[in-house]
Amino acid sequence: MALLTILGTSCGNDTEQSPEWKLLETDTLQATVETEPVSAPVDEDAADDPALWINFSSPAASFVIGSNKKAGIHVYDLKGHEKAFAPIGDINNVDVRYRFPMGDRTIDLVGGSNRSHNTLSLLELHPVTGELTQLDHDSLVSGVSEVYGFCFYHSKATGQHYAFINGKDGTIEQWKLEAAGDSAITGSVVRTLTLDSQPEGMVADDINGILFAGEEERGIWKFPAEPGNSSEGAFIPNSGEENPAIRFDIEGITLYSQNDTSGYLIASSQGNNSFAVFDRQEPHAYITSFTIDPGKIDGAEETDGIDITNVGLNDTFPAGVFVVQDGFNYNGTKKVSQNFKLVDVRRMLYLVNPDASLAPDYIPYNLD
Ligand code: CA
Ligand code: CA
Ligand code: CA
Ligand code: CA
Repeated sequence: MALLTILGTSCGNDTEQSPEWKLLETDTLQATVETEPVSAPVDEDAADDPALWINFSSPAASFVIGSNKKAGIHVYDLKGHEKAFAPIGDINNVDVRYRFPMGDRTIDLVGGSNRSHNTLSLLELHPVTGELTQLDHDSLVSGVSEVYGFCFYHSKATGQHYAFINGKDGTIEQWKLEAAGDSAITGSVVRTLTLDSQPEGMVADDINGILFAGEEERGIWKFPAEPGNSSEGAFIPNSGEENPAIRFDIEGITLYSQNDTSGYLIASSQGNNSFAVFDRQEPHAYITSFTIDPGKIDGAEETDGIDITNVGLNDTFPAGVFVVQDGFNYNGTKKVSQNFKLVDVRRMLYLVNPDASLAPDYIPYNLD
């Protein structure tokens, strides 16, 4: 009887029943997959911004897109192996959107800020090979001096596709994008927003029509994303160095969705190698910060861009993945070229809030 009692107690023991991803030895996370290094010299600051492309019909065949600001755009599979590379210039930030209308079909778009031509680069992603076909033909020249940050916005209200691109002087252009025939995309600036100093990271909440933009040495702003909306931004409290957990630059920004309204806004706090988490809902309360430390794979330092998805992808990332650029990539003790690190979203959310709900089947995009 005594033995049964002990076994009974043991079975109820929280630690033994916890899955591996709940066994956080410290308040930190570790990457479980990393991409191959980008093609660049070891000491070059070349990798910048990742974007996830989800294959909705076969999620395990999704891709990680990664910018190389000295060369172009890399496409990796979920094991981190390179599938394709588009040598189209110095691409700083990248983003992805779905179902762009091109004649009688729809395509999935990869876009970026091209510093070689000061343009918006727009490319069709091949859903099987990952190959990228350029559709802007270097014609979408931005009016901002030195393009820098970039993100897409696909309006749920109108179905219209837009891109936001910013420059070092604080200007953010909103471009309306449309097909021109079946092998080109054209665009025009429909609105200009202004910040006082250099922005970079941006992300749009398509479902709620909001643009979040990081001002590198100030914090995070939000703007209503429709072109007819007010151009006045609202500052997100505690998103700058008034918050002791944050050290500039504010770099990449991304959005984790649990449903149409709740989730988290996450920002790279580059100056202290950490990530700051805010409530997706107003007033966007600061919740906590975390780091990605060495485990089987080295940690993430001086991170530029980030992306996250709640969508379940495969056995390694059954409730989504958080992907970050790593400024100092090590293979054992040997420094190698920069790359991107992939973290199990379950671990990240458990650290943020043990009761946080996962939403592996929710699609946070307008796919109509
Ligand atoms: Ca960097
Ligand atoms: Ca920056
Ligand atoms: Ca950057
Ligand atoms: Ca590292």
